[in-house]
Amino acid sequence: MHLARFPRLHLAHLPTPLERMPRLSKELGAEIWIKRDDCTGMSSGGNKTRKLEFLMAEAEAQGADMVMTQGATQSNHARQTAAFAARLGIGCHVLLEDRTGYDDANYNMNGNVLLDHLHGASTEKFPGGHDMPGEMERAAEERRAEGKKVYVIPGGGSNAVGALGYANCALELVNQANERGLRIDRIVHATGSSGTQAGLVAGLKAINANIPLLGIGTRAPQPKQEQMVYDLAVKTAALMGTPAPDRSDVVANTNYVGEGYGIPTESGLEAIRMFAELEGILLDPVYSAKGAAGLIDLIRTGQIGGDGERIVFLHTGGSVGLFGYDWAFDRSHQHTDAPMMAAE
Ligand SMILES: *Cc1c(COP(=O)(O)O)cnc(C)c1O
Repeated sequence: MHLARFPRLHLAHLPTPLERMPRLSKELGAEIWIKRDDCTGMSSGGNKTRKLEFLMAEAEAQGADMVMTQGATQSNHARQTAAFAARLGIGCHVLLEDRTGYDDANYNMNGNVLLDHLHGASTEKFPGGHDMPGEMERAAEERRAEGKKVYVIPGGGSNAVGALGYANCALELVNQANERGLRIDRIVHATGSSGTQAGLVAGLKAINANIPLLGIGTRAPQPKQEQMVYDLAVKTAALMGTPAPDRSDVVANTNYVGEGYGIPTESGLEAIRMFAELEGILLDPVYSAKGAAGLIDLIRTGQIGGDGERIVFLHTGGSVGLFGYDWAFDRSHQHTDAPMMAAE
């Protein structure tokens, strides 16, 4: 695995810290560490920054003067793409799909949407269920007819080029662990459009790390989620010229999605409060909270974390989205003591 063969913009703040979570570990009775990919930089960071280092380098190499992408209203990917476009001095147009039907003003204009616009991107809204990839191709063709050189980035930046960013993360994490003599027994993270997990699967395979990886779903049912990740992991390995992953390397648990994409769950909101109150770390309601809800529940029910197993939770970012979801938080929880948590 030799990623220097691929064009890349070194704009991310790497390596991201690998830290202990002492109070959450104590609360749950398991050893939990956190890989801080919420701190990757570019408009407050998140997992899309690693992907965009490779995607935007390709855009630049192709002479693009505009990028186009799509996502949900509170898309972190859209916000980070807009920030990269600003940094490169090129245009950015984002197609936003209303996957929740929320008419709340903060959901529609605050959080990531506010930042999309601050970075100078234009946005366009579509109803849920719209053919977004098709719409994006149409929109790109329109701009090309006007003479624009448009580089189209798929939703979530999830293609083989974007996934290189997470193959790189696998290498970075294992190197960090090796340098510190820190054995990692399992990695857990939120999975969505699949580029993060696919890149990790391909990267961990390429370096023969043999660390079990668990994606916690945020949208699709399990068979679809695992198939998406597997297909992209195979493509990513092919692009890197490394051994193809096995189907059994791909494991997603989709029991924590709740009612659907972008709809907060009770367990996710609890995870947000626990990380905030015990570790001073912010999660987001759409992805990292559901990932953490899975982590917490699987530890509580003894399915992972037993026998001194050391777990690394990969924090994929997204806290900007909190400001589009302020209404989801029961104000009665704005307390100074936390009865749910054991006192130190
Ligand atoms: C996009 C995103 C994910 C999911 O990553 P994929 O590569 O799309 O699977 C997880 N967490 C956050 C905060 C995200 O923005």
